Amino acid sequence: MESLNPQVSDIVDHLAYLRLALNLAKKSPPKPTNFRVGALLVSQSSDTPLLSTGYTLELPGNTHAEQCCLNKFMDSRGIQTLEELQEKLPMDTVLYTTMEPCSKRLSDNKPCVDRIVEAKKIRKVYVGVSEPEKFVEENNGRRVLETAGIQYEYVPGLEREILEVATAGHEKTGGN
Ligand code: ZN
Repeated sequence: MESLNPQVSDIVDHLAYLRLALNLAKKSPPKPTNFRVGALLVSQSSDTPLLSTGYTLELPGNTHAEQCCLNKFMDSRGIQTLEELQEKLPMDTVLYTTMEPCSKRLSDNKPCVDRIVEAKKIRKVYVGVSEPEKFVEENNGRRVLETAGIQYEYVPGLEREILEVATAGHEKTGGN
């Protein structure tokens, strides 16, 4: 296992963080109606870089990984308002997620990109794969984030495993 030594924040091993997110995604219950995704909030300059973790359906309701990650950060620190969240998140907070955050949801839930943008302190999002066009026609996650001034970086190397885990509960279609 790669170490996540905070002393070497300038040579952060993004793939190690992404692998951690992938392991979280594996805890998500397989369902035909969503993707199993894992996410991490990380503050690279902190002594304890890992701020929070989350995966799809970890919290009650139809919850997404990024949403769980943010909500758990708030709960663990007794944060109740968005203003408090903006205040308590470190300046160098980044988000790792196995799949591009959603910009549109079929339900009335707030899309994850909106949650990321309104948190204000998340300066960069690292993703393992783009969202496949299965449940919503087009995901503009990346564009929305970049428009809001949040950097977006694709971390290559785990695509195949990420998609396998994400779609484990889906009906297998023929072909391939
Ligand atoms: Zn989402």
